[in-house]
Amino acid sequence: MKKMQSLCLINGEWRAARSGSTIPVTNPATGEHLADVPQIDQEQVLEAIRSAETALPAWQHRPARERAQVLRRIGDLLQERQDECAQLITLEQGKPLRESLGEVSYSANYFQWFSEEAVRIYGEIIPSDSANKRIFVLKQPIGVAAAITPWNFPIAMLARKMAAALAAGCTFIAKPAPETPLSALFLGELCQEAGLPAGVVNLVTGDAAMIGSTLMASPIVKKVSFTGSTEVGKLLIRQSADTVKKLTLELGGNAPFVVLDDADLEKAVEGAIYGKYRNAGQTCICVNRFLVHESVAQTFTDLLVARTRALVVGNGLDEKTSIGPLINDAARDKVVGILQSASNDGATFVLGQEACAATSRFIPPVVISQVKPSMRIWKEEIFGPVATIATFRTDAEAIALANDTQYGLAAYLYSGSLSRALAIAERLEYGMVGINDTAISAAQAPFGGIKQSGFGREGSAHGIEDYLVLKYLSVA
Ligand code: NAP
Repeated sequence: MKKMQSLCLINGEWRAARSGSTIPVTNPATGEHLADVPQIDQEQVLEAIRSAETALPAWQHRPARERAQVLRRIGDLLQERQDECAQLITLEQGKPLRESLGEVSYSANYFQWFSEEAVRIYGEIIPSDSANKRIFVLKQPIGVAAAITPWNFPIAMLARKMAAALAAGCTFIAKPAPETPLSALFLGELCQEAGLPAGVVNLVTGDAAMIGSTLMASPIVKKVSFTGSTEVGKLLIRQSADTVKKLTLELGGNAPFVVLDDADLEKAVEGAIYGKYRNAGQTCICVNRFLVHESVAQTFTDLLVARTRALVVGNGLDEKTSIGPLINDAARDKVVGILQSASNDGATFVLGQEACAATSRFIPPVVISQVKPSMRIWKEEIFGPVATIATFRTDAEAIALANDTQYGLAAYLYSGSLSRALAIAERLEYGMVGINDTAISAAQAPFGGIKQSGFGREGSAHGIEDYLVLKYLSVA
């Protein structure tokens, strides 16, 4: 692997913090020190904002076909350097290497798809009420856009936002999570290599509260797209008021996975393994609650336990590994706390009870049954390799249990009857529903939630709309 990029990208230049302060980046699997990234100050954040403002007119008015070519090139470079990029993701994030390769390919898809979408930002002509008037609607980039991203998909969460923003003609500033900034800086290098002009993409690292409040307070920044916790999302909503800033919020989830009595149980368990244990359970669309018809609950549990037992916990660089470490000790403590409260509340540990006393970031996968809506483990996003199972008797009860959460991101439903599945899916209060499917995210589909999982969409034509504003021309 070439030397890792560990400086911030501001106005096309790689910069250290003016103060010389840095933030260490470590490998969650080994504790090894990987690099130090700059802890920049507010003046440097303002400089990044100004450089995005300066770069805006030329980028916005560049022919869409040319913007598309640069985006396409970024996606191609990601594919060409997928091994290097995947290794970097695993080193700083911990997920198994094959999942990191999947993340790189998924990210490249967004650049490719939005490069194709950039040339299709069509306006409208609307018939007016009078013979001598014309009504035109233009779609224009909103302006300077900013992104704040989490550590669980270090390159994908950034790619989803950056590709849509650049396709729309916006310029861009991003703050990656401090645990995983190196993948984002790698993407910055590819942007430069692809010929993106200076200032169009800026990448800043440092204190989250300072950078966040500076971006939110700036009248130059017209839009902020955030992926992360609901708690920080609510703070950003409050901070957006003073500048009436447009937001896209991809927040937390509490995904139910409903198994009906007519489901193909082998297929359901196959989907469950992917939907639950991917990224050690640290994804916003990971299954949080398995809701299983009581007549098939025992068989489903037995099959799930058998498949779960075969999972290998270890360093993501080891090709045998199926579950890597949790991102840090705080994440482990949170999962252990949730497990202990489930144990105290009377849930039954079918597998992995030893995780209640885990002192390592490598948590063994857990399966718990007899889970009830009153328990903390039902209400909170677990963000760990823990499967919880509750049972139901009727479709109406399954719907009520599935909707019993403040979140509304992803839900899953397994059934052998499409009409029954559709009738239930229509009643699930979620932005996305996988029917006999847990691999639900794709560049051409609108990803996003309702309720306290946020608003706005990433991916699909709807994803680009989030970076556009309408201008109506009335011509007499
Ligand atoms: P988080 O604590 O909210 O952090 C996310 C990002 O926000 C980080 O870059 C963080 O930086 C930054 N941040 C923290 N405080 C801030 C502030 N006051 N102002 C501005 N930015 C601030 O979330 P996380 O624990 O890293 O990520 C996990 C969460 O993300 C889960 O809830 C998960 O469901 C959600 N998620 C949602 C989606 C989706 O598409 N809906 C996708 C992936 C993850 P610092 O770390 O430096 O504080």
